[in-house]
Amino acid sequence: MRTIGHFIGGREVEGKSGCFADVFEPMTGEVQAKVALASKAEMRAAVLNAAEAQVAWGNTNPQRRARVLMKFLELANRDYDKLADCLAREHGKTVPDAKGDIQRGLEVIEFACGIPHLMKGEYTEGAGPGIDIYSMRQALGVVAGITPFNFPAMIPMWKFGPAIACGNAFILKPSERDPGVPMMLAALMIEAGLPPGILNVVNGDKEAVDAILDDEDIKAVGFVGSSPIAQYIYERAAATGKRAQCFGGAKNHAIIMPDADMDQTVDALIGAGYGSAGERCMAISVAVPVGKTTADRLMEKLIPRVESLKIGTSVDPSADFGPLVTKEAVDRVKNYVDIGIKEGATLAVDGRGFKMQGYENGFYMGGCLFDNVTKDMRIYKEEIFGPVLSVVRAHDYEEALALPSDHDYGNGVAIFTRDGDAARDFAAKVNVGMVGINVPIPVPIAYYTFGGWKKSGFGDLNQHGPDSIRFYTKTKTVTARWPSGVKEGAEFSIPLMK
Ligand code: NAD
Repeated sequence: MRTIGHFIGGREVEGKSGCFADVFEPMTGEVQAKVALASKAEMRAAVLNAAEAQVAWGNTNPQRRARVLMKFLELANRDYDKLADCLAREHGKTVPDAKGDIQRGLEVIEFACGIPHLMKGEYTEGAGPGIDIYSMRQALGVVAGITPFNFPAMIPMWKFGPAIACGNAFILKPSERDPGVPMMLAALMIEAGLPPGILNVVNGDKEAVDAILDDEDIKAVGFVGSSPIAQYIYERAAATGKRAQCFGGAKNHAIIMPDADMDQTVDALIGAGYGSAGERCMAISVAVPVGKTTADRLMEKLIPRVESLKIGTSVDPSADFGPLVTKEAVDRVKNYVDIGIKEGATLAVDGRGFKMQGYENGFYMGGCLFDNVTKDMRIYKEEIFGPVLSVVRAHDYEEALALPSDHDYGNGVAIFTRDGDAARDFAAKVNVGMVGINVPIPVPIAYYTFGGWKKSGFGDLNQHGPDSIRFYTKTKTVTARWPSGVKEGAEFSIPLMK
């Protein structure tokens, strides 16, 4: 059986704790590898090693740091197919979807290549007599990222790309369910010329995470995962004075106005609701048609499309989606479907019984569609994270606007309409972090920032874009007087710029 260790000091090293977790191949249901789970002591050793390496990297000029990232882009593109194959086999998503996962990560690396410009400070000449003021951005030191299973390439790159570009050393604790791609990315960074110790992958579970949170030499932690863990990480990281940005779960609504192009809307819902088996933080999980006629037209078109979804293996290029990540994930999602039925929602399409011929042990389930879901139901309030779309019928626009605004989660939302007034009003008023107008998954491009509100995000800066540079650097402001010979006498009140 293949074992996956850690990537520390520029090479893969064996785990020493004696603890391992199974890494499954979701499409067959078989265990394909064992990943080492780091002990507290192993994490501490990695941090000390990273801290030593960071000094020289932080003093390397930003052009040189950018060149490493440029070379990494070239190498990742060279190995694109290999990365996508590993990703699909560990996560379960299809190969074309895995390529998108990699691509959206590489776009943030492209953004981070602009670091010489992005890290520039500000300068004011003559802020007072002979006084100039300037600011500079400096690396934090050692920083960490704790990432979820559902984007094993993209989210690690969203974290380590900007952090390393800024001159930090990085400890990545990826999901123990699909650690293969993060290990490959770290090896590519070394091949690209990154000094050993600057990007480390320390695999593990709660023990490794807690070791990160309690380590005073780690200055910032970026987390992505479920909301209860996001909140836990945010609070515990703050106790050692770390910066923390922790992104959590989601319940993304799509509002369908009566004037929406129904064919386009249904295409969007099918892709965004069921792509990647619904295991995306920006998946649409609630559709809100406005008015009875809109709801009936929507259901008429949606039902046959959900019934005809093509579920396949991760390596079947014609599949709409593949298996879920684990058997536990399938059981959890099916349990939510049972709950929805008990709560009184109408199960219009039932995919629970789906079996994949020849892959009976794989973690598959078919698409499910609920109608007449109401806002007091658990299937509405909680994140299901599977191929299940709930339709909540709204009487009017105001009721539709209130649903995502009042929901505990606030990651993404979309409105489908041809009415510019309605779209503009919705974008301004809705209490959610990322908004799509006739765009179902409004994941901002790399040079904007990504982040949800309410229970979807703890902390005050977003991921990637300009916020990532702010998060991974500290600002120093210098006030200088030249010539130093200007005589003003001693001042006892607070100095003013005269
Ligand atoms: P998860 O919260 O189970 O795990 C995320 C990370 O936390 C993993 O590295 C895991 O090892 C670690 N972890 C898990 N339990 C822990 C504990 N008790 N103590 C300390 N660390 C722990 O999430 P997941 O199942 O891997 O990912 C799916 C979740 O991530 C969904 O809720 C999804 O919405 C969310 N997500 C959010 C975003 C976003 O940007 N908001 C993006 C992707 C995924």
